[in-house]
Amino acid sequence: MNEISRSQALFDKAKQFIPGGVNSPVRAFRAVGGNPLFIKKAKGPYLYDEDGNQYIDLINSWGPMILGHAHPAIEEAIREAVSASPSFGAPTAREVEMAELICSMVPSVEKVRMVNSGTEATMSAIRVARGYTGRDKIIKMEGCYHGHGDSFLIAAGSGALTFGYPDSPGVTKGTAQDTLIAPFNDLKAIENLIAKNPEEIAALILEPVVGNMGCVIPAEGYLQGLRELCTRHGIILIFDEVMTGFRLAQGGAQELYGVKPDMSTLGKIIGGGLPVGAYGGRKEIMDSVSPAGPVYQAGTLSGNPMAMAAGLVMLKHLKAHPEIYGQLDKTTTKLVNDMGDEIRKAGFNFTINQVGSMFTLFFTATKVTDFGTAKTSDTALFAKYFQAMLQQGIYLAPSQYEAMFVSTAVDNNIADKILTAHRQALKSF
Ligand code: PMP
Repeated sequence: MNEISRSQALFDKAKQFIPGGVNSPVRAFRAVGGNPLFIKKAKGPYLYDEDGNQYIDLINSWGPMILGHAHPAIEEAIREAVSASPSFGAPTAREVEMAELICSMVPSVEKVRMVNSGTEATMSAIRVARGYTGRDKIIKMEGCYHGHGDSFLIAAGSGALTFGYPDSPGVTKGTAQDTLIAPFNDLKAIENLIAKNPEEIAALILEPVVGNMGCVIPAEGYLQGLRELCTRHGIILIFDEVMTGFRLAQGGAQELYGVKPDMSTLGKIIGGGLPVGAYGGRKEIMDSVSPAGPVYQAGTLSGNPMAMAAGLVMLKHLKAHPEIYGQLDKTTTKLVNDMGDEIRKAGFNFTINQVGSMFTLFFTATKVTDFGTAKTSDTALFAKYFQAMLQQGIYLAPSQYEAMFVSTAVDNNIADKILTAHRQALKSF
């Protein structure tokens, strides 16, 4: 057993002053048991906890650290920005460069507004869609997570699902009524909702590749089908690419699958590890945002200089090195194939879903295509697996209903270490 007495003491103290001891629920390790690790630093593929233990990180800050931790160029950019003052609350040249860069990389984005988190991005995007269409209702998919905005805490994934509160107290009935729910990968269900709510639906929002009920892949023709339905019925199609943006391709899932939404929400990688989000889309829609138009949305720290500096280095790096995506895909495919071989040998039921550098190992024999099938997973078995991996120095997402993220810091040596730990873990229970 790793010595984790400092993490334990910190968690005990944290619980006195922070609800549940953490600033974001999944960090508390509730679904897998045990004490969460308090992290002191990270470099490349490794995390180091307060007790000095080293772990290979397959969470990567829930996605942003696609180049591994503490990348020197990003560190340098943040240092340079901070020396000119961390915030002005005024326009800067970096914001313009950032906006132009995003528009050049993400197919659906002609104009973009920077915000401070993925939650802000999705909340703002649906307000714009409602303002633009003059309609109130939205459609979201069961098990997708779009941050903690009220409208999205209906059948929500990620921590809300892990903690058993997919519908959160505190969301008013009125708000909940305006969110219509459909299963992922089910076009017929969308047609039915549209037929029952004619001319009432402002937007349809989804994770084009889901990360938040574990990784779930869009069926052949599903995204195209949604595109056609939304076009036919004047519904704004929003791809929430907070996870998939700049991860599955430079232009995210919309580039990978060749389907252009009307609006996109972005986060995570876009800030290089700093708290950033963005929403953007077609010019005429985005021009309804204040002060160009009447839909209000603002932010004191939006476009923050340090965040822009870090994000610019990250995005420029990805743009200059498109080969990264092929490499990440190759590394991840080999890793999940090898992991799959070992589980098969060990005799456990499993399904692995992978797109590029995102994957989830579900402990179920059922093909996972939506929320219902994701829920067939044996979460108790996942908890045992998680703990066994942790003991061998591999830090996985602490819930079955999350995706794992591979960074460019995973080389053959790191992949071998993950595989060895995986083999041992499967023998231990
Ligand atoms: N959308 C998606 C697809 C996400 O995965 C997340 C966070 N995991 C969010 C929105 C919310 O982002 P944030 O936690 O930065 O508010």
